[in-house]
Amino acid sequence: MEAYTLHLAMAALIGASTVAISAYFLHRKTLSHLLEFARAVERDVDDENLHAGVVAVDDSSSSPKRHLRKHRSAYDRRIGNGYYRRSSTSLPDVTVVDSVEAKSGHPGTPKINILRAISPKSPVASASAFESVEESDDDMVDNAEMDTTYLHTNGNVGLEDKNGYETLPDHVNANGDMIQLTASKSMIHSHSISGDLHGVQPDPIAADILRKVPEHETFARLKVTPLEGPSPDEVEAYVIVQECLEMRKRYLFREAVAPWEKEIIADPCTPKPNPDPFFFAPEGKSDHYFEMQDGVFHVYPNKDSKEEIFPVADATTFFTDLHHILRVIAAGNIRTLCHYRLNLLEQKFNLHLMLNADREFLAQKSAPHRDFYNVRKVDTHVHHSACMNQKHLLRFIKSKLRKEPDEVVIFRDGTYLTLKEVFESLDLTGYDLNVDLLDVHADKSTFHRFDKFNLKYNPCGQSRLREIFLKQDNLIQGRFLGELTKQVFSDLEASKYQMAEYRISIYGRKQSEWDQLASWIVNNELYSENVVWLIQLPRLYNVYKEMGIVTSFQNILDNIFIPLFEVTVDPDSHPQLHVFLKQVVGLDLVDDESKPERRPTKHMPTPAQWTNIFNPAFSYYVYYCYANLYTLNKLRESKGMTTIKFRPHSGEVVDASSCIQAGDIDHLAATFLTAHNIAHGINLRKSPVLQYLYYLAQIGLAMSPLSNNSLFLDYHRNPLPVFFSRGLNVSLSTDDPLQIHLTKEPLVEEYSIAASVWKLSACDLCEIARNSVYQSGFSHALKSHWIGKEYYKRGPNGNDIHRTNVPHIRLEFRDTIWREEMQQVYLGKAIIPEVDK
Ligand SMILES: [Zn+2]
Repeated sequence: MEAYTLHLAMAALIGASTVAISAYFLHRKTLSHLLEFARAVERDVDDENLHAGVVAVDDSSSSPKRHLRKHRSAYDRRIGNGYYRRSSTSLPDVTVVDSVEAKSGHPGTPKINILRAISPKSPVASASAFESVEESDDDMVDNAEMDTTYLHTNGNVGLEDKNGYETLPDHVNANGDMIQLTASKSMIHSHSISGDLHGVQPDPIAADILRKVPEHETFARLKVTPLEGPSPDEVEAYVIVQECLEMRKRYLFREAVAPWEKEIIADPCTPKPNPDPFFFAPEGKSDHYFEMQDGVFHVYPNKDSKEEIFPVADATTFFTDLHHILRVIAAGNIRTLCHYRLNLLEQKFNLHLMLNADREFLAQKSAPHRDFYNVRKVDTHVHHSACMNQKHLLRFIKSKLRKEPDEVVIFRDGTYLTLKEVFESLDLTGYDLNVDLLDVHADKSTFHRFDKFNLKYNPCGQSRLREIFLKQDNLIQGRFLGELTKQVFSDLEASKYQMAEYRISIYGRKQSEWDQLASWIVNNELYSENVVWLIQLPRLYNVYKEMGIVTSFQNILDNIFIPLFEVTVDPDSHPQLHVFLKQVVGLDLVDDESKPERRPTKHMPTPAQWTNIFNPAFSYYVYYCYANLYTLNKLRESKGMTTIKFRPHSGEVVDASSCIQAGDIDHLAATFLTAHNIAHGINLRKSPVLQYLYYLAQIGLAMSPLSNNSLFLDYHRNPLPVFFSRGLNVSLSTDDPLQIHLTKEPLVEEYSIAASVWKLSACDLCEIARNSVYQSGFSHALKSHWIGKEYYKRGPNGNDIHRTNVPHIRLEFRDTIWREEMQQVYLGKAIIPEVDK
């Protein structure tokens, strides 16, 4: 028995050393192989083994390999239902580069062949290669711009983009400095034959892609022209669609002077951060006089004047127009036509991808420095009280329980309780707490149950924990929520490329809410360059009425809008609110859209007459918020102040039986007329006419498929990929990270899941990210910096691939198709201005 053990031990020992020795030799062999390989490449340009380089030298159009690959990539895509598969992403199709260069008669082509021959494919192991890349990245930038905090975030190190690409002029515009280029290449060359395997040796294929000329003009354009003009029936339908679009133009608030006309940005490098965002300078009162009439504020130049200066459509006009739109939506012939046009749009996009996806990807490769991780993305729709993830909230609660157990935090049942006592009353210790006990995550029970979803805002099912940690008007004046918010802000800033538009509630129960909110923001110094605010108004008239807080709907309107008009006319009357409003970019309407409601008639009671116990319909809320906001914005604009866009939730709810209720379509019709952009809009899938109108008007949709998945619509049924294919202006947003997401970067999680499930390409993701910046309410200066100096121009002219990583090809396609569609609708007479105002 003992001998056996000895044998076993000896065998193990010998085995181990054999493995070690053979590993050593294997390693040596690999090294010498690699060196040999490098030299072989040097010697023999036409070596068959160097497939990638050699194919590129061949005439691209006659290469059989190329044909094969093309065929395969076309075959891989499934057409027809809006989904498509991408192929050949791992294998760079170098042949296209050469064909591009040959076509454009680029003088550098022969040189590139030489380069390819002398620089072998890098044999460096991946880890050290990565380090080298990072180092070379560092070399490109001014070190003063670097901030070490970004080193720990994902994606690229915080390079300043301007330097990131401008220091590569000879790479980008190869026309000029070819000598310089060759010199640097031969340095790399000599470096590699010295056998130093850890040196910087860029992949020759990638390097050549970077050095190619811009891809403009070299993609397959689609020309789909019908044989005949539209039939008389179709003409009739198109005229009606035109009328709807013109109607929206009449309602929507637009600045008289666009931001880019007011503020010319010569140098779109990083705008200086605001050194003192809460600074208030007394501005004095203007003479404006405002007065409520039938639920809408009217503004006069002074108290004695009878001449209203910012008139807005009255309620009867609005409801008449709304009914017109609703009739149009229901008309059979228009539905058929719109359905057909939308399908055609989808097929055009699929065809575009079949023809050009490889070129788009190549164009992305050739944009130095930029990739999906370091293009700017805005979370266009997220509720502030759910902006942290569950783990973050849990950690925060535990740390407060540890560090501030004796802080008096709440007044309940006639006594003041410390944090420790609150947890004792719940029979919980800090050690007990875990994410499961916290129970804030959406689960099966919340599907189609908005009420249950709302209960998830209560940590551990306890409203008192919500009161302490997630409210800003509590006994500790929202100090905990303020601290938590600051932590979320610093996480965002560390990610650098992610921004958010947080929605925070004003309820309309009393006028002092605005001042309370503003002082919470100012006292906690809640400001970040990565964040702007939206105000959300829950539609809860019936609840307040029942509680006796309000007597009529007019009370709610007064509580919301009187402070806003006061502070606009006289900023000194609410200094903190004045400062806060500079960071507020939108007004949102929220609540459960699935509650049944009655369609408003043309002649509705005025808000002062609305004293019954029922909640007014969605469109009733929409009109009065829109009209007052319109007047307010006109007044603010005339005084040189920032404006507040109307961006409500709309079309979120899908009926369980999958047949849509009349009410849901009313919501989308009302917001079509009045809203700047909307959150969700998934119900557009049920109305081809509205969907087509939202496409033509390019109304932004901040969609949240993961949130829909928890509440109303399974992920695989979400219309986002179809909307995206058809060219609707969609962005991705998180809605409620606390209830829905699992990771520290909820927005990237949202993109990641969409990309995986719907097989979105890097180009698609970057296009969606660009949309999100475009839709957002961030300043003109920041948008210029993030997506390009002329971002407001239509189509490829507004694009800067060095910032957005979206190929011109994609935007030119979108723009061409949209213009064709507009001409189709306007029967060839559409007048389309160069900029989208
Ligand atoms: Zn939401």
